[in-house]
Parts: sequence; C-alpha cells; structure tokens
Amino acid sequence: MTATRTDPDRPILVLVYQRAGLPWVFEAAERAGIDLVLVPRPDEEVRADRLPPAVVELLPLEPDRDPAGALAALRARHAARPFQGITTLYDPMVPFVAEAAELLGLPGIGRDTARGAQDKRLMRERLAAAGLNVPGFVRIEGPDPEPGLAAAARLAFPVVVKPAHGFSSLGVTRADSPAALREAVAGVRRVCAEKLADPAAALVVEEYLDGPEFAVESLAYGGGVRVLSVGYKGEPVGPYFEESVYRAPDTLPEEVRAAVVREVTAAHAALGVTDGPAHTELRLRGGRTPYLLELGARIGGSGASHYVASHVSGTDLAAEALRIAVGAAPESDGPTGLAAPVGAAANYIVPCGGHGTVTAVHGLDEVRADPRVDHVVQMLFPGDEVRPYPDFTGYPAFVLSRHDGPEEAADFHALLARTIRVEYAAAGPGEPEEPGEHGEPEEHR
Ligand code: ADP
Repeated sequence: MTATRTDPDRPILVLVYQRAGLPWVFEAAERAGIDLVLVPRPDEEVRADRLPPAVVELLPLEPDRDPAGALAALRARHAARPFQGITTLYDPMVPFVAEAAELLGLPGIGRDTARGAQDKRLMRERLAAAGLNVPGFVRIEGPDPEPGLAAAARLAFPVVVKPAHGFSSLGVTRADSPAALREAVAGVRRVCAEKLADPAAALVVEEYLDGPEFAVESLAYGGGVRVLSVGYKGEPVGPYFEESVYRAPDTLPEEVRAAVVREVTAAHAALGVTDGPAHTELRLRGGRTPYLLELGARIGGSGASHYVASHVSGTDLAAEALRIAVGAAPESDGPTGLAAPVGAAANYIVPCGGHGTVTAVHGLDEVRADPRVDHVVQMLFPGDEVRPYPDFTGYPAFVLSRHDGPEEAADFHALLARTIRVEYAAAGPGEPEEPGEHGEPEEHR
C-alpha cells in the first residue's frame, strides 16, 4: 500500500481493476478533482513510483479470487481512512463493487441491481417482466445440459449461445440448427472453463436478432436518464462476433431513434439503474424494433464509450460518472432523453484478419498522422501470436477519430479498412499455434 498525497478536501474513490496503461479514466478523475485509490488488475504490475494521474494509493486486492478477503480489507481501509466511493469499469466486478458500496454505506446501484445488469439470465427475465422486447431464451445450467438443450431446441433458429456472466463477446456463438446448438454449447462451456475459470458456467441460449447493432451511452442521476449518444456498431452475423466499428450519432429515421431511446430508458427503470453511467448494446430486429443485447451499469470499458459520448454530446461522461460514484451531483445538466448531437465521433477496431505470428501491423503511422485521429491504441505487436477462431486473442488496435458527421466517419472507416493490415508469418506445416503473451495496450501520439 502506497500513500503519496492526501488532500482532505478532495473526495477519494476506490477504482477496481482499471488498466493503468491507458490514461483516460485517470485524466477524468483529475478533471473531476477526485483522488483515486487503484486496485490494480492481477495481471498488471503498477509501479508505485509511476502511478497514473490522480492515483494517490495502490491497494492490492483480489476481489475475483477472494471476495470476502477483499471486502474485509476495504472495510479496514474505510474505517482507518474513509473513502467516498468505489467503482469499476470492468464488467465482472460490477456486482462486487455494488456489494462493497452497500456494506460500507457508499453510493452505488445496490447488489441486486448490479446482479441484474451483469447476469444475462436475470437481465432477460427482468426486461421481459417489465414488458420490454426480449428474444425467446432458455437457461442451460447445472451439470446436465440435456433439459436446457431440449428446451432450447424449441426456440426459433438461428440461436445464439453465450455465458451468463460473459463479457467482450467471449464464447458468444451462433448456431443454426439443434445439432449445431449441441456443439456450440460444448464449445462455449470449454471457453468458460479456460477463459472464465468457470467449468460449470451457466449459459443462455436466445433467438438470433437479425438486424443492425447500436450502442447507447447514458448517464442516470436520481432516476432521470440522459442519453448522450446512439451509435452504429455494424451488423456482425456470426458464428463468432467481433467488434468492428462504432460511429455516432446514428443515421436512423427519427421514429426508430425515438424507439431506441424509449427502450433504453425503460431498461434503466426495469433493472433499477437510477444513478451512474450505462453502456447499452441493442439490435434493431427487422431494422426497426429495438431489442437489448445488454445494459452494463458502467462506462463502456475501452475508452471508446467515453470518447464517443463526450464528443457527440459535449458532456464529460467519465468525469460525471466518477462524480456520481463519490456521491456528488453531475456538473453538467441536460434534459432526460437524447441530447442533440454537437459533433460526430468514431472508433474503428482493426480486425485480426488472420492468425499466426504477427510480423507487422501496416498503416498505423499513416493513420496517426491524420488530423481527424485523436488516439491510436495498439494492442498487438510483431511477435505476438493470434490464435484461430473461436479463440479470442484480442484486437490489434483501435482508432478514435472525430468527424463533421456520421457519413464522413463511415467514409473514413472505409479508408482505414484499405490502409491498415496485419501481416502474419506463414505457419510451417504441422507447426502448432500456441498462445503467446501479448503486449499491454500502448498509445503513441
Ligand atoms: P458480451 O457481454 O460477451 O459482449 P453480448 O450479449 O453483448 O455478450 O454478445 C456479444 C455480441 O454477440 C453482440 O454484440 C452481438 O453482435 C452478438 N449477439 C449476442 N446475442 C445476440 C442475439 N441474440 N442476436 C444476434 N446477435 C447477438
């Protein structure tokens, strides 16, 4: 534990499992005048003499491995030197953080709401109970998948299989027939065992939602929901789902956009998310009717959500979310519902485009020099190994940019698709493709 600075007037916020390599949340805390106590991710070493901005202390805990121990340590830290809030952007930690906040009497969404926003079974059930649009779905849980498989075979195919506690599309698989479903369930269980350390993981099987995908960034306070941006996320068809583009504002017809805003606002109420940020993903079935994929009660993880929402709405999403997490009111005010856009912003996720040993990522220097580009975050480097599907190694890079409108952003993404290319060494015959260490995200600007 390292304490470097204490200013009694500044609120202190415990930030759980935030990657220290990317500065944006830490810079947001500086703008909000909040000191951070960082619980580092177990897979990342943060040096006490090179702390990210706003971080005044490191608190090494392992809430994923030992939640009771982590709660006890937080209780002791709070009793000795009280902090004003605890938060996370890492989806699997949302329930832990809500529980800690509840136990310590700190601001938060509450344990039950957090579970409903993190467990895909509960979320589907709660949205359905509130009369929102939900595809047909079935749980598969317990040691014997057969009863679940039998029920799922009665859904309208194609269907999608996913871990109930999944994130980052890990293991999400489309199946077009009951036979393919059986195979997909076995495959998703393998992913749960290997990647989520959860061999008995519960799964959800749900009907495939045919239509384009959108993401919505929002900020709730006192039950009022401000929708900061609605953005287009492409139309991935599977069988495995990669992220590709994100461009906001959307170009939807007015009545469809209004339906999206209504559905997302109603989902906040159905799940009980009254305060704080949310990142919602949805699909427009038949191109018109919004069906939520999920609502995460947190800022979308990679920095793209904050970047897009703040440039499109003019509201500093991350700083406002951190203020709410320490029990302060947001500084900006805006009406509930959708804010009129003040700009356009985009994220382009470079596709892996193959697998094997990366020998080069071409085109990034050219992209960095483009005046429309604010950030290029590179995650895979020469020497890294990319495993073939359905394994997920990570994305090579993402590009955050600003534009005059969503059409210009779309043209720019077409240019990026032509410019950026990942090159791989040809694998020798019979050469196994083993996973390798891949680099921490790096931003060069
Ligand atoms: P995660 O939380 O792991 O990201 P999601 O439920 O958001 O899981 O699914 C990841 C991606 O898989 C979605 O962004 C979407 O493209 C696709 N997907 C998931 N469920 C469905 C569905 N029912 N219909 C169509 N596509 C889906």
